[in-house]
Amino acid sequence: MRQGAARRFLVGNWKMHGLRADMACAQEIDRCAAELPQVSIGLAPPVTLLLPLAERLRHVRVGGQACHAMDDGAYTGGISARMLTDGGGDFVILGHSEQRAQHCYGDEQVRAQALAAQAAGLDVILCVGEGAGEREAGRALPVVVGQVLQGCPNDAGSLLIAYEPVWAIGSGDVPAGAQIEEMHGAIRCCLKERFGEAGRAVPILYGGSVSESNAAQLLGLTAVDGLLVGAASLSPVRFCAIARAAAYA
Ligand code: PEP
Repeated sequence: MRQGAARRFLVGNWKMHGLRADMACAQEIDRCAAELPQVSIGLAPPVTLLLPLAERLRHVRVGGQACHAMDDGAYTGGISARMLTDGGGDFVILGHSEQRAQHCYGDEQVRAQALAAQAAGLDVILCVGEGAGEREAGRALPVVVGQVLQGCPNDAGSLLIAYEPVWAIGSGDVPAGAQIEEMHGAIRCCLKERFGEAGRAVPILYGGSVSESNAAQLLGLTAVDGLLVGAASLSPVRFCAIARAAAYA
């Protein structure tokens, strides 16, 4: 995701959606990406589609939605970072709130997965974000800062952060621009504290109910370097509209 001179980053997370018949959607997105070289576009399909999409797409990078911290072993159902690389993956999304909730992952486990991913040559998109209760209790900033400081791997050059408030995912609710700016500013401070100068260049994406209607506004926020998109990435028409907003923001 981080190679090249792209100014903006756009990543679609297909979650547990997508059969071989849906590869045509990804190819449509690839045709749109060909016309927008100023945006680095990635898709994270289910792992069954990783290799076929890696072989077909020319302008869109493909990646995984999770990976195991171990390289191999008796971990039924597990997918290692090296398997993602072997399957044509360029990046992996880690620490997504659905993964954290389903597998009870804490920051230590997320960091171990991120270390394995970078060792395997993958870019890491580290997801962080507070729950609704944490925001209501005034704890959003310390929660997110803790996730960044404890979950970050060692290499800033192959790292992206996605700020995804858990309450915004799939809900249609999006934080106010000032809330996003505040959180991205705090994340940037953490990155500088952790990585020094290199922390300035780590892209910080926003995710949570991004749509073709709010993408331009979100990308107009100075602290937003790109978007992580769930539901709207399943429709090539919607995702390409978001990509065009990213190209011209
Ligand atoms: C996500 O789950 O990463 C996400 C951003 O989902 P949605 O865009 O559907 O809110």
